Amino acid sequence: MHALVTGGGSGIGRATCRQLAADGYHVWVCDVDIEAAERVQGEILVAGGSATAWHVDVSDETSVEALFAQVRATAEIDCLITAAGIQLLDHDAPVHELDTAVWRRTIDVNLTGTFLTLKHGVRSLLARGGGAIVTIGSPDGIYGMEPRSQAYSASKAGIHGLTRAMAIHYASAGIRVNTVIPGFINTPMNAPIIDNPAAFEQALAAVPLRRVGTPDEVAAVIGFICQPTASYVTGSLVFVDGGLTAQ
Ligand code: NAD
Repeated sequence: MHALVTGGGSGIGRATCRQLAADGYHVWVCDVDIEAAERVQGEILVAGGSATAWHVDVSDETSVEALFAQVRATAEIDCLITAAGIQLLDHDAPVHELDTAVWRRTIDVNLTGTFLTLKHGVRSLLARGGGAIVTIGSPDGIYGMEPRSQAYSASKAGIHGLTRAMAIHYASAGIRVNTVIPGFINTPMNAPIIDNPAAFEQALAAVPLRRVGTPDEVAAVIGFICQPTASYVTGSLVFVDGGLTAQ
């Protein structure tokens, strides 16, 4: 069994690689930061798992095509997880102040990057006759929870729509497509909030469980969705958010 994870070098992607390796997959740890990907590959090997680290820039179609050409030459992918993403916290802004370059960069990595990974990855799943795809969304893409992060919110809303349309279209091909929506998770992406006591308290106040989530808690749900026992789960937005969006 093979799984491919973009953004596998850090945070939720890293935890997902480790979870899937523990579940018996050979994991393709793909990241624009190849050193981070190689570190995760090393962690998996030390734990007795099997992994390949690979450099990919998901916003660059040539890079994504090269990745899947390599994968197809050596393996059949059973599941595909698109965890690569950015949030330009200090630069994202209300639209009248939003630098178009910040908008484009956010959309390029988060939405176009997800599209390109799925465009080339789904061809591998079609060739093997099915599989599971998990994209990573955000509460921001539904509820506008960070009103200043307008490029990020739009990029995530796009991922939700793409995932649902794909779930319907590819159902007959045996491909399940779901979005996992993490809440406030302890990853490097959130370091500016977690390292700022006032901002951290404010963020926790919105979470009914009153704590930050761990990447492993998100990865456990992604791992479940990838399993054959989740065979009736497709087209879903699966929240892993400590109740954040239940209020
Ligand atoms: P992270 O910064 O820890 O990890 C993101 C990874 O993506 C990094 O390893 C980075 O190198 C990689 N990456 C960035 N640009 C890339 C590119 N162009 N090509 C390939 N790889 C690239 O962040 P995280 O918190 O683990 O976020 C993972 C996903 O989860 C993101 O899509 C993020 O938007 C989403 N998310 C996170 C949270 C949270 O609270 N942390 C909440 C909701 C959604």
